[in-house]
Amino acid sequence: MAELNRRIVLASRPHGEPSPAHFRMEEVRAPTPQEGEVLLRNRILSLDPYMRGRMSAAKSYAKPVEIGETMVGATVSEVVASRHPDFAPGTLVVGFGGWQDFAISDGSGLRRLDPAVAPVGTALGILGMPGMTAYTGLLNIGRPKAGETVVVAAAAGPVGSLVGQIAKLKGARAVGIAGGAEKCTYLVDELGFDVAVDHRGPDLPGSLAAACPDGIDVYFENVGGAVFEAVLPLLNDFARMPVCGLVSGYSLTDLPPGPDRSPILMRAVLTKRLHIQGFIVWDFADQEAAFLAEVGEWLAQGRVKHREDIAEGLDRAPEAFVGLLKGRNFGKMLVRLS
Ligand code: NDP
Repeated sequence: MAELNRRIVLASRPHGEPSPAHFRMEEVRAPTPQEGEVLLRNRILSLDPYMRGRMSAAKSYAKPVEIGETMVGATVSEVVASRHPDFAPGTLVVGFGGWQDFAISDGSGLRRLDPAVAPVGTALGILGMPGMTAYTGLLNIGRPKAGETVVVAAAAGPVGSLVGQIAKLKGARAVGIAGGAEKCTYLVDELGFDVAVDHRGPDLPGSLAAACPDGIDVYFENVGGAVFEAVLPLLNDFARMPVCGLVSGYSLTDLPPGPDRSPILMRAVLTKRLHIQGFIVWDFADQEAAFLAEVGEWLAQGRVKHREDIAEGLDRAPEAFVGLLKGRNFGKMLVRLS
């Protein structure tokens, strides 16, 4: 007897901030694998800021989710039926199962997981796409040197927390920016950042300047907006800026009010000889094995730490996703499906 598949589809496109009303839960029959395919039962769903972009029809580096389509997302899944020679039932994999209980895959993009090596949820966080983003963006573009100052915002999340910890492993000074005292305390006391600055505090530019007495050599850009405005005057000559994300602006509907500040930015680029480079994690796909080996070892040795924030049940995904964009998550945002 075919099982039911609960799935969450995009119900409408948000103008501005998304809400749970932009999603809809549906129940359909679970699909049946054809020759060369597997049926996946999704166990854990990853929620990530890029999903805001997929809800929009605007042209980007990946195609949007259409209205009525199942929301995309990475999952830890179990193979429950297989007509594929490489994947036996019972195999745990990380793949792209989406916001639903079951998914079909032809095996491409699936990576086998061994729970004896690391808890499987890490394949969506520190040992998954967010971790690889931190590792590749920081080491290829940021290139921190011992004694330099590295600043990162969204620092309690999966990307920012690893950026700061790798900066420390490379001998740099790590300054984290996060929302609220609890996250800031965690950065310093648990993760070993040198200083943490609360971007919701009264004087972000002043607090950041006090936290960076020697200026900033690497700014790993996750956020944009007011955080970037506070960072820009502090950048040192030849500072490097991997542009990873701009989460403060993902739901903007209009440009911020003037005056036009782009001349200030371009003057800084010129006079300080800044290196600013946008990147998408898969630009460094050929470094995945090196990332898994090195960060996997650091994790096993306890030299890097991570934190998960788990919502229980598929029906909680829309609310958890909306909260993620506002900083209500504390750690890698996951949804336990079953
Ligand atoms: P997080 O789990 O850190 O979640 C996003 C965080 O952003 C929130 O928790 C919140 O933390 C912070 N935030 C939201 N709004 C603001 C604001 N206005 N000002 C300051 N901080 C804000 O996300 P990830 O670690 O998964 O991702 C971090 C960034 O990396 C995102 O921009 C994401 O899009 C990007 N990214 C890019 C990739 C690429 O290939 N280029 C791949 C993966 C991620 P707080 O409470 O501290 O404010």
